[in-house]
Amino acid sequence: MKAVVYEGPRQVAVKEVPEPRIETPGDAVVRITTTNICGSDLHMYEGRTNVEEGKILGHENMGVVVETGPGVTRIAIGDRVSVPFNIACGACRSCETGWTSFCLRANPTDGVDGAAYGYANMGPYDGGQAEYLRVPWADFNLLELPPGDEHENDFTMLSDIFPTGWHGTELAGMTPGDRVAVFGAGPVGLMAAHSAVLRGAAEVYVVDKERDRLAMAEKIGANPIDLAEADPVEQILAATGGVGADCGVEAVGYQAHDSAGAEHPELVLDNLVKVVRSTGGIGVVGVYLPQDPGAASEGAKQGRIAFDYGSLFMKGQQMGTGQAPVKRYNRQLRDLIIEGRARPSFLVSHEMSLAEAAEGYERFDRRDDGWTKVLLRP
Ligand code: NAD
Ligand code: ZN
Repeated sequence: MKAVVYEGPRQVAVKEVPEPRIETPGDAVVRITTTNICGSDLHMYEGRTNVEEGKILGHENMGVVVETGPGVTRIAIGDRVSVPFNIACGACRSCETGWTSFCLRANPTDGVDGAAYGYANMGPYDGGQAEYLRVPWADFNLLELPPGDEHENDFTMLSDIFPTGWHGTELAGMTPGDRVAVFGAGPVGLMAAHSAVLRGAAEVYVVDKERDRLAMAEKIGANPIDLAEADPVEQILAATGGVGADCGVEAVGYQAHDSAGAEHPELVLDNLVKVVRSTGGIGVVGVYLPQDPGAASEGAKQGRIAFDYGSLFMKGQQMGTGQAPVKRYNRQLRDLIIEGRARPSFLVSHEMSLAEAAEGYERFDRRDDGWTKVLLRP
């Protein structure tokens, strides 16, 4: 089959690879109908991780089940499914308490709790930017969708970024009527803003410098804050009569940069501490890589981020962080889509064939004008 493989910094290629097969009784094989390129893929693409050459990428997957192992009883061949990016066993202490993003059994190889498809340090699993994908613990992990092809571009957001954006608002302790500051108008930030609106925010402020992305935030009812025009903290304080936001979401990650383009991993954390009122919450879903002194690239060596923890303390703010436990939210978010209340497909800018993946990566990575979210159709 054809699959997108990592070949080195800023190099991906579509290669012929062996088809996946059932390896353990609980596995299923899914024929991929849609698989997305994610901002998280860019950490690997830009050479900031130690992902191995030849790794099949892709953790935002959906499709139709074509094969099941003898232990699979709930999911059946022919089911249309969303595949949460977390691979979880369903029975460990983390999974039992809803924290599938920190499964204690799915990743025995990398010294961290939690596993994902096609990702550096997240277990030995192939990704789904391919024609087929093996899904472990299929009965537990897969979310069934209505048959057919309706809402394909909405449902494809259920594997990661819609639950991740929602999780950002949850970690921030958001309640109805809150003023919410979202840093980053990439796909994750836009999903956090969409979630905040759905959850009854009084106002949502979305910070970025990419005009096309800010325009999308405005379209879904948020206030765009262009950091290239003036300090985003000052702008939000001015808009809230000096009070600031009740809570905030970090949807940028350690590659945050200033308006001149210089990288400052601490910048967005500092801004959130400043702009969120005392005792308010901050949900950090942007990725920060663990410290790895032996890593090849500077990016992957990070881990220690010198943000203003003292002000966080003095303001008594709450901060939550980590990979999103997709399964905790995807059923409800699916039903919001089915009932017409949520429309996460608004951010889709490009639908490409798998063969065009290299161009999709390159242009999404450059944040070319209008390249907000790229879907691949194997
Ligand atoms: P993205 O890179 O497309 O979006 C990031 C956006 O942040 C860009 O639009 C960029 O212009 C903007 N930005 C840069 N510096 C900024 C600053 N100082 N202030 C405000 N905005 C700034 O990526 P994405 O797909 O939206 O993902 C965002 C982050 O979320 C990434 O770190 C990704 O790895 C992470 N992520 C986390 C999870 C999770 O489970 N926690 C899941 C998916 C993605
Ligand atoms: Zn993703």
